[in-house]
Amino acid sequence: MAKMQKEYNLSKNQQIVFDIIEKSSEPVKAYSILYNVKKKGIKAPPQVYRALEKLIKLGKIHKVESKNAFVACKSSNCEISKATAFSICEICEKVTEIANNKLSNFLNSFEDKSGMKYKKYNLEFFGLCKKCKKT
Ligand SMILES: [Zn+2]
Ligand SMILES: [Zn+2]
Repeated sequence: MAKMQKEYNLSKNQQIVFDIIEKSSEPVKAYSILYNVKKKGIKAPPQVYRALEKLIKLGKIHKVESKNAFVACKSSNCEISKATAFSICEICEKVTEIANNKLSNFLNSFEDKSGMKYKKYNLEFFGLCKKCKKT
């Protein structure tokens, strides 16, 4: 697979949406993004959704399905937009992107009984983060 470049020219809307997500320390819900972009002049929700879709395709952000929220990709060598894995703390709800080669290699070569290979997955693992384990 060709290695994709991480630097893209984002459109103005994409950049605004991306900045909001990147600055946040936790996953950002769509309505919160909508609320924040209004101040920057993006008034129509479809513009925001289009920007989100594009950012996901580029791998700049990922969607955390169970939270219906978006996080900026923290790993510079993450080329996956169709395959994501997160660990989520059950207490503080901290979401961390899992960048584990063993896991992604396993899943990339994984075939189920019918011989189906998976092109897309969104994994979420739940447990306790270090901080919450202590308390
Ligand atoms: Zn990523
Ligand atoms: Zn925690």
